[in-house]
Amino acid sequence: MIKKFIRKILGVKENTENGKSDESGKSKAKNKPKVLGAKEHGIDPKLVSNNAIRVTQTLQENGFKAFIVGGAVRDLLLGVKPKDFDVATNATPEQVKRLFRRAFIIGRRFQIVHVMFGQDLIEVTTFRGAAKNDAPTDEHGRVLRDNTFGEQHEDAVRRDFTINAMYYDPSSETVLDYHGGIADIRKKTLRIIGVPELRYREDPVRMLRVVRFAAKLQFSIDAETRKPIPVMAPLIDNVPNARVFDEMLKLLMSGHAMACLQQLRKEGLHHGLMPLLDVVLEQPMGERFVTLALANTDERVRQGKTVSPGFLFASLLWHQVLEKWEAYKAAGELSIPALHLAADDVLNTQTDALALQRKIGSDMRDIWAMQPRFEKRIGKSPYKMLENSRLRAGYDFLLLRCASGEIDNEIGEWWTAFIQGDEAERVRLLSIKPKAKVGEVPAAKKRRPRRSNNRRPKTAASE
Ligand code: ATP
Ligand code: MG
Repeated sequence: MIKKFIRKILGVKENTENGKSDESGKSKAKNKPKVLGAKEHGIDPKLVSNNAIRVTQTLQENGFKAFIVGGAVRDLLLGVKPKDFDVATNATPEQVKRLFRRAFIIGRRFQIVHVMFGQDLIEVTTFRGAAKNDAPTDEHGRVLRDNTFGEQHEDAVRRDFTINAMYYDPSSETVLDYHGGIADIRKKTLRIIGVPELRYREDPVRMLRVVRFAAKLQFSIDAETRKPIPVMAPLIDNVPNARVFDEMLKLLMSGHAMACLQQLRKEGLHHGLMPLLDVVLEQPMGERFVTLALANTDERVRQGKTVSPGFLFASLLWHQVLEKWEAYKAAGELSIPALHLAADDVLNTQTDALALQRKIGSDMRDIWAMQPRFEKRIGKSPYKMLENSRLRAGYDFLLLRCASGEIDNEIGEWWTAFIQGDEAERVRLLSIKPKAKVGEVPAAKKRRPRRSNNRRPKTAASE
């Protein structure tokens, strides 16, 4: 009674159907899930991965509990084929590993097991227990390590959103719903489990996840889930860059990149948080290029084609490179070395800020470095380009530059004809005098040369 009174004074909510719990958002979890049979949830078993079924079945045959969980259940309920499947179980990582031929324990923030079937990967996690009060946190309350195992209902309360906290058992075709996820799916609502402020403090990346899911699923964000975001957004600064980068990559490769970026802006999440996003969202010159690049990426993802992060980031940062390239040339550097210096500058800044992996960085450099080579449309040079293993990426990038109006369409058309043409056609093309030059910046965008002894000129983006 007294407890209830204190809660009332503090304005802390009681347990509700949505699983909102006490001030910790953890200790008063709803222990009994709503159980839905096949007729109620309507999941099409044909959309379920056979490998995920193999994993749950094997675990169950060995006396463990095992369910498909998280985003896969959410997508199945929405009638969408999930792109990957996660399994949750009460078996420990060691116990899981023993049951499968190709299983690897991955010790990132939480220990999980990767079970491989050819190229297909099923991620298996052990139910996680209620977060301990003494779990180590940083000075802002971000949980640093918390790897205790627990009961299924405890696992459910630690998941991020109600729609991500459902469990599907393929053998009985039942869905266990602990936090009103089904109702929220029907209402197309994203609702965080527990007290939003506390959940964002524990893990600020959840703010980026809300945005990604809202844009991708076209769901609305529940008012209480949304409210603290603009105030708490700066907490993302304290998250390790590599983790923010992973989330950004998911966002950009979700097939709804443009919608996600617009939503980030709407929620006040883009500013000053990620240097790359500032560049992308606030560069008037490159806006058309970036918009096209993202539309292109979204289209590829939706068609089930692969998207290379290197190509994506090369596109997002191209206008920063262009600007620096121009500045180096204006400072007296020759075109090709100037491009390399510009690429170095951009990669150095972004590699630190974004934890860009080395491989992505070198892919980006390759794509950029090929651009002036498209300019050489005489002699042996174009034939050498045909042998370049990265031609496809470089050429696609060239076409984006044409489509954005940065360079003349004629260059893209010439290369399309050259790549597709037979020998006679190629000889004919080589005899045409090129009209436009690649890398030529339209007169209006040219700057006055800056005279300086410093080899590294300052540009807006480097200030
Ligand atoms: P996607 O379709 O992008 O894979 P997803 O929901 O499966 O979406 P994952 O990152 O694969 O997202 O995470 C799997 C599940 O793990 C989530 O559905 C959620 O239940 C839980 N989860 C992931 N990240 C967090 C987090 N930061 N906090 C709490 N739970 C999380
Ligand atoms: Mg997933």
